[in-house]
Amino acid sequence: MQKHFDYIITGGGLAGISLVHYFLNSDLRDKRILLLDKSEKKDNDRTWCFWEREASPFEFLVHHRWQHLDFYTPDFAETLNIAPYKYKMIRGIDFYEYGQQMLISAENVEKSVENVQKVVNTADGVLVTTDENEYTADYCFNSIRFEKICKDKNLYLDQHFKGWTIRTKNPVFSPDKATLMDFRLPHAGETKFVYVLPTSENEALIEATLFSPDLLQSEEYDKIITDYISEYLPQIEKYEVLHEEFGVIPMTDYKFSPGEKNIVNIGTAGGNTKASSGYTFCYLQKHLQRMTESFVKTGNPHLTKTVRQKRSAWLDRIFLNVLQNHRVPPPKVFGTLFENNKPSQVLKFMSEETSFLEEIKIMSTMQIFPFFRAMLSTMVGK
Ligand SMILES: Cc1cc2nc3c(=O)[nH]c(=O)nc-3n(C[C@H](O)[C@H](O)[C@H](O)COP(=O)(O)OP(=O)(O)OC[C@H]3O[C@@H](n4cnc5c(N)ncnc54)[C@H](O)[C@@H]3O)c2cc1C
Repeated sequence: MQKHFDYIITGGGLAGISLVHYFLNSDLRDKRILLLDKSEKKDNDRTWCFWEREASPFEFLVHHRWQHLDFYTPDFAETLNIAPYKYKMIRGIDFYEYGQQMLISAENVEKSVENVQKVVNTADGVLVTTDENEYTADYCFNSIRFEKICKDKNLYLDQHFKGWTIRTKNPVFSPDKATLMDFRLPHAGETKFVYVLPTSENEALIEATLFSPDLLQSEEYDKIITDYISEYLPQIEKYEVLHEEFGVIPMTDYKFSPGEKNIVNIGTAGGNTKASSGYTFCYLQKHLQRMTESFVKTGNPHLTKTVRQKRSAWLDRIFLNVLQNHRVPPPKVFGTLFENNKPSQVLKFMSEETSFLEEIKIMSTMQIFPFFRAMLSTMVGK
């Protein structure tokens, strides 16, 4: 017999665990929920960084925070004071462990480790099929990417990166300052930069990041990191690599389906990844908080896009078009943003919190002709 739940959450990563957190802190706290994931979530497979003005809903999990960020291009270097924002880091493993603890203490929430094959609407709810079982529910909140992105018909770049957490023999880092983007390494048109995120004088996550259509071989990312260390962190005498992470984030104007009827897509699968930067953490939290409130109030978990969100999606397309078509060298795109605008204003813009007038002001500081051509191009479809 099929087991029935009020809600099934498919995918127990960032979006799935966050949603359980919001449901358990709302009037939905007594609902019977099943969380399905194919993985036990026991690996520290990613590190989330994001900026915020206020405390995060997951502030208690923040591993490190910075208020000063170094930014470098070949012709511009500045230490940005991002007040009133803070740049924060949450380690995947701490988030997943919090998820496990939450499930242990909530008797009405079950987790099962199963591979989900499909999720379909039925006459009165949803049917979720896994390799072993079938489950039914009133609603399914799905964060598994079943949809294939059609890359040819959309603006599309992969944001791909490999990071090393290193421990140095001698104290070399300032833990109160991180490097947000360092574009000084040679590049061939693609967007390529390095993050340095120190969490103590001896430890930092150093990440080689590219926005481009093709991934690199693993050792090519390693070479970017070792070249960077020898060129820009020569004070490091000896280091060991404590941990590695690799990731690919789609940067695209592809319209991810928000789901329909009793299926609600969330996370990257629901379009909560910002197309022009790949950042997801904060947009997703805001989205899930709004969705939970609306669900409690109206019984409808489907949100309609606000005018503000539609405008941001359009601005994202313009930036993505500029980057994908190499209309302006990438270091110049980001360099111009930070050189001509207050850091807090750039972060506000990227957080989708600016007014229309503030956006016009920021856009007017960019390279007028290439951005105008990108804007026209997005209007005719690509
Ligand atoms: C390495 C890495 C670093 C990142 N760093 C940042 C960052 O610093 N800041 C930021 O804002 N964003 C970052 N992102 C982007 C984004 O925040 C993450 O990808 C985030 O985890 C997306 O949340 P999600 O819930 O949509 O997907 P996930 O967290 O990936 O969760 C999806 C879950 O679905 C499960 N699953 C998949 N297929 C199936 C199946 N068939 N059956 C059952 N379960 C399945 C997976 O095991 C996974 O647990 C990063 C992404 C990666 C990959």
